[in-house]
Amino acid sequence: MKKKRFLLTLMTAALLIASCGPAQTPADAEASNTATIQETTDVSVKDDDSAASTANNATVEDVASTEAPAEVKNDITENNLKEYPPKITLSGNHDDHFIATELCYYEGEKFFLLIAKGADLPGDLADNVALIIDKLEEKVGLPYKTEHALFGFDNSTVDYGYNPWEGFDFGKKVPIFIKIDDEGAGYISCGDSSFATIYLNSLISMDVWNSVPKYRDNPDWREDYVDYYDFAHELTHVLTLRHAVLPKIIREGCADYYAWQVINSLADVSPDLQRSREEMNNYFSYQVKDDVTASTAEQIYRNDYQDLSHAARGDEYTLGRMICSFLAETYGDSFMLDYVNAIRDAGYRFEDLAFNIELFNLQQSHLDELTDIFKDVFGENVFKDFAAYYQKQQ
Ligand SMILES: [Zn+2]
Repeated sequence: MKKKRFLLTLMTAALLIASCGPAQTPADAEASNTATIQETTDVSVKDDDSAASTANNATVEDVASTEAPAEVKNDITENNLKEYPPKITLSGNHDDHFIATELCYYEGEKFFLLIAKGADLPGDLADNVALIIDKLEEKVGLPYKTEHALFGFDNSTVDYGYNPWEGFDFGKKVPIFIKIDDEGAGYISCGDSSFATIYLNSLISMDVWNSVPKYRDNPDWREDYVDYYDFAHELTHVLTLRHAVLPKIIREGCADYYAWQVINSLADVSPDLQRSREEMNNYFSYQVKDDVTASTAEQIYRNDYQDLSHAARGDEYTLGRMICSFLAETYGDSFMLDYVNAIRDAGYRFEDLAFNIELFNLQQSHLDELTDIFKDVFGENVFKDFAAYYQKQQ
């Protein structure tokens, strides 16, 4: 379990990069898709539909003041007539199950669940997701609804050869895809500023499970609870990336840190949240491959695990989470908000990220600036102090 989870985490790392492709600028909207940024990974994983392409996110709302790109300009009236997948409700009871016999959706106050055919959801799933979203906003100190970020998604979210949600008005709510890996291909969850995609074996209906030989022959692959840690991690990406460009070590580190915080504080709410906390505590580690000392800590941060052949790749999760824990203990709970605000003030804003492929694909000069901002916010000695904190945990 521990090893499997770590592998999944690594794969999430690789996919997240792929999932954060830049959107088109309105000026470029007529042009074909901008280049996909995709990293290679040494684990065998097939990119999921939503992650593999760039986020060509021009929604009707985003382009209202400019000439609409070809993809959407004729859709407004058509979409009014278009029939979308049906809306569903859930009972709220953990022991009830909703099995999706067709593509459908659930609408919450701050999010949508876009539910694949063949999904099996416990009746309390939407309630638990709502709690996670509220708790994340409270802990991070930022709202999902932002003024400037782009929202929605494009045809990269195609299902069954077409995009059933094209033109659907999500407003500023978070679209959360509940997808089914019905080939056992190894798709994994991911999240970026636009939306989150969740793949969990526990959300596959038994009918689908038994129809896929890979699953049927490996019953131990199936988890018997919903891992809400996965939701909390990806939803932290959506929340933080809607506000600022983050170096990888903080992007992944804060996703693990806040998922940990949220799952800990919600564990008593439902049996699955409780299981999520138990499993989380089973695999959490306090050791990384890099030698983190007073003289190396800053350089590790500057390098930001951007080198894909880095021997310590994957450490960004553990080390990043420890940096966040250290900051919370040393500077208080507003550490993330303070860093995000300073990054935004320096011009590394989500809206710039979305429009600027260079900003998305952070160069060393960007990483150096984000590191300097880190020192401005937390002090010249922050890396030395963190190294001492780290050494104490070993
Ligand atoms: Zn992640």
